[in-house]
Amino acid sequence: MGQAKIRGTPEQRKQAAIERQLSLRPKHIVCNNCQAELSEMAPIDVAGMHGIDAAFVASCPHCGHDTYAIKGEREAVANMHMAIEDATGSEAQAGVVPSANKV
Ligand SMILES: [Zn+2]
Repeated sequence: MGQAKIRGTPEQRKQAAIERQLSLRPKHIVCNNCQAELSEMAPIDVAGMHGIDAAFVASCPHCGHDTYAIKGEREAVANMHMAIEDATGSEAQAGVVPSANKV
């Protein structure tokens, strides 16, 4: 190699944003419907969403319910939940996201 590191390419910045979001990832999301602990979750692209730090959706294998975990400013999180409700046409309840310190 021997090539100098190029910093700040769009690709690297995107990668950094993804890693930052993954660092905010909860260990699990509790299913809103059946209270199963879901450790499989997909990050949601929140690049254009003001006040949102990270968002994840977990599809419950037991009941098929989608539960969202959204981190950010309180108001922005509420707005995003409303947007999800509008988009899905169903009630999207706030995901129960245990704090990182909780045993
Ligand atoms: Zn469930």
